[in-house]
Amino acid sequence: MNKLYHDITRVISPSMAVWPGDQNVVFSETKRIADGDVCNLTVLKLSVHTGTHIDAPKHFIDGGLTMERLPLECFLGKAAVYDLRGRERITRGDLEKLDIEANGIVIFKTDNSEKLSTEEFRTDYVHLTLDAAAYLAGIPIRTVGIDGLSIECYKSDGNPVHHALLGAGVVIIEGLDLKDVAAGEYQITALPLKLQGGNGSPARVVLMEERPDPLPLG
Ligand SMILES: [Zn+2]
Repeated sequence: MNKLYHDITRVISPSMAVWPGDQNVVFSETKRIADGDVCNLTVLKLSVHTGTHIDAPKHFIDGGLTMERLPLECFLGKAAVYDLRGRERITRGDLEKLDIEANGIVIFKTDNSEKLSTEEFRTDYVHLTLDAAAYLAGIPIRTVGIDGLSIECYKSDGNPVHHALLGAGVVIIEGLDLKDVAAGEYQITALPLKLQGGNGSPARVVLMEERPDPLPLG
């Protein structure tokens, strides 16, 4: 079998879009070889919800599980990618047709991957409705990933989608870039930083696909 890796992580840079009101990404070079220092060194200032990132239950639930305590099973293993492009929002009706496995990791590819640039924040991203979130929480799944900076609509009142998912212990991955990934089954690696008490963390998220070796020629 041939292993093919898909990096579905957005690049972190000072010019990237962040949630309105959240910390911009700042890279400060504190040592530079070009200035006579022995090495190059950078100090990074950023929100834990920057770019491709994980939401821990603690993000919306005080006393909820924090980054360093989340089981690795939330970030590793089999992941199903579903193609849900062509919709403004994802509803329970969309998900009921998918035959989603209990305890699995599911990733939703939406129009966000094509429409949203890493550099510009838009409010009209594709999101989950509350009935969709409640459906996933009821299965229940382990982790849900989406290609918008939030899984919930912009300016939602009380953030019920986050509460439904995180309250049921479903970990959320936001800000994925699924442009070049087709629906199907993959092995995912989505490891966040082990931040003590962390309510979120950027993560490097990679999908691994196994393809049969090409037949020998001749
Ligand atoms: Zn988040």
